[in-house]
Amino acid sequence: MSRQKIAIVGAGLSGAVIGRELAEAGHEVVIFDRRDHIAGNCHTERDAETGVMVHVYGPHIFHTDDAEVWDYVNRFQAFKPYKNRVKTTSRDQVFSLPVNLHTINQFFGKTLRPDEAKAFIEEQADTSITDPQTFEEQALRFVGRDLYEAFFEGYTQKQWGCSPRDLPASILKRLPVRFNYDDDYFFHKFQGMPENGYTEMVDGILDHPDITIRLKTGFDRKDTGNYDHTFYSGALDGYFDYAKGRLGYRTLDFERFTYEGDYQGCAVMNYGETSVPYTRITEHKHFSPWEKHDGSVCYREYARECGPDDTPYYPIRLVKEKEQLAEYVALANAEEGISFVGRLGTYRYLDMDVTIREALDTARLFLDLHDKQERMPAFLNPPL
Ligand code: UDP
Repeated sequence: MSRQKIAIVGAGLSGAVIGRELAEAGHEVVIFDRRDHIAGNCHTERDAETGVMVHVYGPHIFHTDDAEVWDYVNRFQAFKPYKNRVKTTSRDQVFSLPVNLHTINQFFGKTLRPDEAKAFIEEQADTSITDPQTFEEQALRFVGRDLYEAFFEGYTQKQWGCSPRDLPASILKRLPVRFNYDDDYFFHKFQGMPENGYTEMVDGILDHPDITIRLKTGFDRKDTGNYDHTFYSGALDGYFDYAKGRLGYRTLDFERFTYEGDYQGCAVMNYGETSVPYTRITEHKHFSPWEKHDGSVCYREYARECGPDDTPYYPIRLVKEKEQLAEYVALANAEEGISFVGRLGTYRYLDMDVTIREALDTARLFLDLHDKQERMPAFLNPPL
């Protein structure tokens, strides 16, 4: 096997994992990132004043059913137990999320047991919707109009900047409804927080003698010529200089504030109504419950359309974007020596565990095809 010179664009989870796997297999890896830090949007930084570990680009909670991915992240950083218990404020009260028996009983002023609650919600639900297509149909079918209006309609309008009637049902499918008092936001087998933050974890992944990291360094299409293969985790449309127009993203603005003591008593407080302009407040010290800090760092989070100079967060993927996306996929498939990976490279809403799984699979496919002297495709996980 010949040693290949590999360029990786982006030092987030995709780039770090692919880089590590290829370096371990004996290849020479150079990783480029425009930012002045590694770890992409899961970058964490200790606040100098309070000592709190801050999730700089918003909250990231690691949860997975994938044992190999869980072992992988634990190899580079000890994970501490963490359960994401989200609250939401609506109609001047605080409720528990995801919608569970406590939420239902509190909201409707009842003392229902699980079976009774199930029957009660089924009465609220619009059973005429047999195959929900939109976010709104999915909500009306599974929780009914009252809960939908209190917890989902306004929040979703703020988060996505459009009516839930125009969004796919898949967005809501991320959230369960529970007929017991389990208020764990996630239902995965493994869940935790890296003890010293995600950036230290990614630093561990990148710590290999055959990996060179170039921060504050861009990467152009013409630079691919200097490498045997490029893995690109930057924005797909950006790689092609937006030749087919810009794919739509939501960006986030964080209004940071500090507080002496405990501001809200939990890590994440959502705001279900549009009368409050932000979607949620995160209080970062609660992401590290094993640490003790007197001071507190909080973010008020606002979502809006992503402009040319903003950081893209959530791919929107409405019909308009899907048509454009097909054009970009065709351009990408016509390229040689480059593969597009990760959230921005494939324009998909990816959780961290899925990002790592795909990165491991991408690296393995590359090694396998290299052995067979076959061509690496533009996408292992196509955007469409
Ligand atoms: N959502 C909502 N109300 C909430 C929380 C979530 O309507 O209080 C909707 C919203 O549309 C959001 C989607 O459910 O985009 C998925 O929520 P999740 O918490 O998984 O979003 P993330 O933390 O990834 O932004």
